[in-house]
Amino acid sequence: MIPAKRPLAQPPRWQQAWREAVTDPRELLALLGLSAHAGDLLAPADAGFALRVPRGFIARMRKGDPRDPLLLQVLPQAAELGEVPGFSRDAVGDLGARAAHGVLHKYQGRALLIATGSCAINCRYCFRRHFPYAEETAAAHHWEAALAYLREDASIGEVILSGGDPLSLATAKLAELGEALARIPHVRRLRIHSRLPVVLPERIDHEFVHWLAHLPLQRVLVVHANHPNEIDAGVEHACAALREAGVSLLNQSVLLRGINDSVAALAALSERLFAAGVLPYYLHLLDRVQGTAHFEVDEIRALALADGLRRTLPGYLVPRLVREVAGAPCKTPVGHRVAMAQCAGIE
Ligand SMILES: *Cc1c(COP(=O)(O)O)cnc(C)c1O
Ligand code: SF4
Repeated sequence: MIPAKRPLAQPPRWQQAWREAVTDPRELLALLGLSAHAGDLLAPADAGFALRVPRGFIARMRKGDPRDPLLLQVLPQAAELGEVPGFSRDAVGDLGARAAHGVLHKYQGRALLIATGSCAINCRYCFRRHFPYAEETAAAHHWEAALAYLREDASIGEVILSGGDPLSLATAKLAELGEALARIPHVRRLRIHSRLPVVLPERIDHEFVHWLAHLPLQRVLVVHANHPNEIDAGVEHACAALREAGVSLLNQSVLLRGINDSVAALAALSERLFAAGVLPYYLHLLDRVQGTAHFEVDEIRALALADGLRRTLPGYLVPRLVREVAGAPCKTPVGHRVAMAQCAGIE
C-alpha cells in the first residue's frame, strides 16, 4: 500500500524569525536612520564574522543613536581590525580542554557540551568569532560520543549545554538528549546557557516549555543580557513561561566599554532582570580575544563598578565579577587572584 502523502509540518515560528535576521550592516543602519554613519563600518569582506541580528532585537535599539548600547554589541566596526598585544584567538584555552567530541570538562562536577556552533545573533565581543566550533559539536550522531563520556564519569552531576547557542537546535533534538541524560543515574541537573530568550524570545514556544516542564531533571537556564534595554515585554513573557515550567533563571553579562560600564546601567540591568524573574549570576570581564580590545574595561575600573553596585543594590542583585583564566579550576573572582594563589593546595 502506498502511504497517503502527509502535508509537510509547518516549521516553528521562531525558525522563521531566525531566518529573517538582518545580515547586511547597511540595512541595519538604514532601519535605525543611521545611513550617514556607514563610513565607520568594517567592510563585510574583512569582518570574518558576519553581522547577524534578529529584527525583534533591532526594534529595541534607539533610532538615530549611533552609540546605542544594543547596536554597539552587533555592528562590525573598523576598530576590530587592529592587532592588540595580549589579545589572542583562543583566549580561554578551550582548544586544549576538549575531553571528548564536543565536551569541555574543566570544572569539577560539571561538564559542558558544545551543542552547536550557530547563534541567532553575532556578538562582536564573543570568543566564538575565532573558534572552529562547527566541526566540534556534541549533538553529532545523536549525541553519542558526548553521552558515552558522561556515562563513564560518575562525578558529573550537572550537564551544561552551551555553544554557540544550544537553543538553535530543534526541540526534538534537545529532547533526544534530555531522555538519554535522564537515564544516567549520576546526572541530576541540566543547565542551558542561551542568549535566545533575550534576543529571539519567540524560541521559548509552547513545545519547548512543555519539554522542559516534563524533563525529570532539575533545570537551570542562564540567559545573557548586557543592558537593561534588551529586556522588553517579549523577553519578560518568555521568562515567565520558563519559570512556570519550574526552570531556575540566571543571567550572565559581559562588562563592555561604552555599553554597560556604569553603575547606573548595571544596576538598572539587575533591576530589570529581577522584575522578569531572573537573578544576576556572573559579570564577566571580557575574554581577551583578537578584534575585541575596544570593548575592554580594565580590572581597576571593573572593581570600582562592582563596589558601586554593592552600595546601590541588595546583595542578591549584585553579579559576581569574574574572569576566565585558562587552566583555572573555576571562574576566577576579580581581585581575588592573589588570595587564590595563596590558598592553592588547601582542601
Ligand atoms: C563557565 C564554565 C562552566 C560553568 O561554570 P560555573 O561556575 O558552574 O557557572 C563549566 N564548564 C566550562 C568549561 C566553563 O567554561
Ligand atoms: S555565543 Fe553568545 S555571546 Fe557569542 S555570539 Fe553567540 S549569543 Fe553572542
